[in-house]
Amino acid sequence: SVRTRIAPSPTGDPHVGTAYIALFNQCFAQAQGGQFILRIEDTDRQRSTPESEKVILDSLRWLGLDWQEGPDVGGPHGPYRQSERGDIYRAYCDELVERGHAFHCYRTAQELEQLREALRESGRIALKPGDLALPLEEVEKRRAGGMPFVVRLQVPESGTCVIEDLLRGPIEIDWAQVDAQILLKSDGMPTYHLANVVDDHLMEITHVLRGEEWISSAPKHKLLYEYLGWEMPVLCHLPLLRNPDKTKLSKRKNPTSILYYQRAGFMPEALLNYLARMGWSMPDEREKFALEDMLEHFDIQRVSLGGPVFDVEKLSWLNGLWIRELGDELLADRLTDWLFNRENLLKVLPFARERMETFGDFAPLVSFLASGKLDLTEESFTGNRLALDEQKRLLQFALWRLEALRAWDRDSIFQAVKGLAASMGIKLKDFNAPLFVAISGTTTSFSVMDAMVLLGPELSRARLRQAIG
Ligand code: ATP
Ligand code: GLU
Repeated sequence: SVRTRIAPSPTGDPHVGTAYIALFNQCFAQAQGGQFILRIEDTDRQRSTPESEKVILDSLRWLGLDWQEGPDVGGPHGPYRQSERGDIYRAYCDELVERGHAFHCYRTAQELEQLREALRESGRIALKPGDLALPLEEVEKRRAGGMPFVVRLQVPESGTCVIEDLLRGPIEIDWAQVDAQILLKSDGMPTYHLANVVDDHLMEITHVLRGEEWISSAPKHKLLYEYLGWEMPVLCHLPLLRNPDKTKLSKRKNPTSILYYQRAGFMPEALLNYLARMGWSMPDEREKFALEDMLEHFDIQRVSLGGPVFDVEKLSWLNGLWIRELGDELLADRLTDWLFNRENLLKVLPFARERMETFGDFAPLVSFLASGKLDLTEESFTGNRLALDEQKRLLQFALWRLEALRAWDRDSIFQAVKGLAASMGIKLKDFNAPLFVAISGTTTSFSVMDAMVLLGPELSRARLRQAIG
């Protein structure tokens, strides 16, 4: 039966692009009575975190997606985390080396640098096994000296590789562009390519639906399937989401974290509905539909390859439709859960209490916490000492600092901003003033550090980006 998968790398915020690809994988499999599985690709040990894995899984569940096998639900093809499958990859890698399809490479970082330089000068694109070869006695010397090595893929020098794509038909890629890919790193961990192919085979994946950015990897994967004597799954590369200006969706121009949409008060059904509309439509072209409707009518051939634009204005409009068509009772439940839940209230009260004389003071004080986007104008910044351009410059620096911040608590934020102000030779007060406007939109609110903690990292960063414009 049909089996598809989503294979996120837990290296950051849950991306709307991940949800979009997951949705199409789930629909493709389930519309044909098959299974959809989730696998965590955490071979990059430096960048992967358990927190990121958790928040990706939670976000996909929040949207209403559902997988039959995965690290959280188990299944017969586990473990579903690549970091727990190292021995499996190493065994296949040894097999590839034994059969001459892969080789140990003892080149140093410095030598590789020189080889690349020479490559550029010769006008060629890819490093080939021949470029990397060392005299036999040199290899022996390095091996005997215990020098670290990587395992690389044997690749053809020339000719054309043809990749069959379910939506695009045959795609031709010259072998000259494909380098002797590292399969196993010197620490014994596999790279994406090896782990991905081994797992797709062992997990019996029949169809790989993924973003078009992976097309250029397909020749390497095709080689691996051939070398290992395995049947390659059907490939289908979906168009990437785009900003309204048609560039690849980026957080500079659009919030990309699912957490942002959650915190800004979007309904999961509406976000999922909107992601379904990315390159796909119902046979009757209706705009508002639920996951069940999509499943019922799903046909991959209805995916159009023109880059789908992810436009927050359109999403907001669709969210409005969902809100209007939800009964009062249900809407009341949703709102209570989102805004007035006790847990949230208890977090805010310590700050609000000091500034309240009556209960009536509460809503205006906290309204900035409960709105997605603020209505900022140039006017909003005129109360501050510095010129608008200078304020925006400071906000940009603050944003860079806060994007790199891992822990989101008052002290970490305060130290980050304070350190930045000191290194730029600017008074903290002058830094805080534009931050305050960007974050709370008003002049009467809590301290900006507290406001950022309450708002959370996604909304705080999104507001800074918005203010910079
Ligand atoms: P970068 O700025 O490095 O390109 P990114 O925006 O691609 O980063 P990542 O964190 O690398 O973000 O991506 C997370 C996941 O989201 C990946 O699985 C990626 O395939 C997916 N993704 C990122 N951008 C898009 C997009 N425009 N359309 C569809 N999926 C995307
Ligand atoms: N781990 C890859 C990602 O983050 C998976 C790509 C694929 O689907 O092959 O997108």
